[in-house]
Amino acid sequence: MLVFVGFFAGKLTKMAVDSDYKQALQSSPNLPLANTMNNRLEQLQNLQKNAHCPYSKFQVAAILVCENGEEYKGVNVENASYGGTICAERSAFVSAISQGQANNKFTEIHLIAGEAKDFVMPCGLCRQFMSEFVSSDFKVYVYHSDGGIKTVSMEDLLPYSFSSSDLA
Ligand SMILES: [Zn+2]
Repeated sequence: MLVFVGFFAGKLTKMAVDSDYKQALQSSPNLPLANTMNNRLEQLQNLQKNAHCPYSKFQVAAILVCENGEEYKGVNVENASYGGTICAERSAFVSAISQGQANNKFTEIHLIAGEAKDFVMPCGLCRQFMSEFVSSDFKVYVYHSDGGIKTVSMEDLLPYSFSSSDLA
């Protein structure tokens, strides 16, 4: 019985997050149709292979999507001087900004971490970094190896954030 209830609850949770993603797809008509959830999971898992993580062995991949459909990839890049390490999320943003996209509207980022046996959310530093470039409704999709997706907004991740408006 408990197993059945657990299974059913898991299905409900998955249905809820999938529904969130489908709504987001509808609100992002420029997102290429081919980028369905399964394709995105596969893209992220392939991208993880590019991670430079000889110390943590924890491969992270990020795909940042702009309103016009352009995409920028990032992976975590570690360094023997640990403080020089950059996370996949910031790596994707740095790539986009480096290519002149600072004024583009970023709508969402897709993330996967490690073996994706859990939903691993962005670290605090990345939350602050991302908030510099996105609006509060920016969507963060975190992928699980079983195909589940957890969806949160920038506002969910970093409420009461510090921003340029605080410097005025
Ligand atoms: Zn981070």
